[in-house]
Amino acid sequence: MNSSIETSAHVDSDVTSVFARIVKWGLYPLLWLWLAICIGYAFTYPDQLAQVQMVKGSVMVALLLFCEWVVPYQRRWGMTWRYLLKRDLVFVAINGATLGLLSTLLATGAVIVSAYTVGPMSGQPLILQVVVGLLVFEALQYGFHRGMHESRGPLTNFLWRSHAIHHLPQQLYVVMHAVFHPFNAVIVRLFVQLLPLWVLGFDPMAVLIYSSVIAFHGTISHFNVDIRMGWLNYLFIGPELHRYHHSAQSHEAMNFGSTLTLFDLVFKTFLYRPGVPPEALGLKPEDGYPAQVAPIDSLLFPMSLQPVSALKTDSRATV
Ligand SMILES: [Zn+2]
Ligand SMILES: [Zn+2]
Repeated sequence: MNSSIETSAHVDSDVTSVFARIVKWGLYPLLWLWLAICIGYAFTYPDQLAQVQMVKGSVMVALLLFCEWVVPYQRRWGMTWRYLLKRDLVFVAINGATLGLLSTLLATGAVIVSAYTVGPMSGQPLILQVVVGLLVFEALQYGFHRGMHESRGPLTNFLWRSHAIHHLPQQLYVVMHAVFHPFNAVIVRLFVQLLPLWVLGFDPMAVLIYSSVIAFHGTISHFNVDIRMGWLNYLFIGPELHRYHHSAQSHEAMNFGSTLTLFDLVFKTFLYRPGVPPEALGLKPEDGYPAQVAPIDSLLFPMSLQPVSALKTDSRATV
């Protein structure tokens, strides 16, 4: 009896380790393939764009959550019911409502504005629009993100306090992508995502492609599974790089990019140590930050003028 239980446990662990090896190198290309299929479908059936977006995101998140459950990279960083219900879902709900309201207001404004505006990118070749869209988003995102971290005066102190909520958790898993203060979410949505759209006037299919790549990388960056991207880490920001950004050690909290590593490489804030995770993540209450599960304190945190020590970088590259 005992030996049959041991044999079955052994088979289970063998199956899990084979699955972990497949996921390690195979999941990232598989997700790109899924993205390409969804984008191809949206090109063929543009009237079903909203449904495609929903299916694309839901399947991806479900697959990532399943992998985190079966083959977590670091159990100490894993999702728990307490954190999920008392912290993560509070922010998911608040950000969903805030961004939903903002989108409704902006959509109304966009109808009025678009009647008079045709940007310089309208009608350009699709590939050019996608590349320019990604580069413009990434340049703004890098500048804003790094500015928030390198707090100096009252404005950047406010911006850092808003952004710090994303850095509070001492864990890292896929749901963490949605744990943001609503101020931070609105500022990024307005100035980094929507402003260039209005000014440059991209075509909808170009927006679909580059925003899908941005959403994909934002989501997998917080993935708690040991997937490897190899040399692609020098092109795209994935979990191997973004984990360092959440490090509790300020000199490791680099990699400010969201999708591309370009600006981290150029400005020497790129950190990559293959196979070596950061020792600890997050921010501590003893340094003046809210506790791990304190949604009200977290929501009120940006309202204080009192400076808190930011996760500053010392601008040195470790490649
Ligand atoms: Zn950050
Ligand atoms: Zn993050």
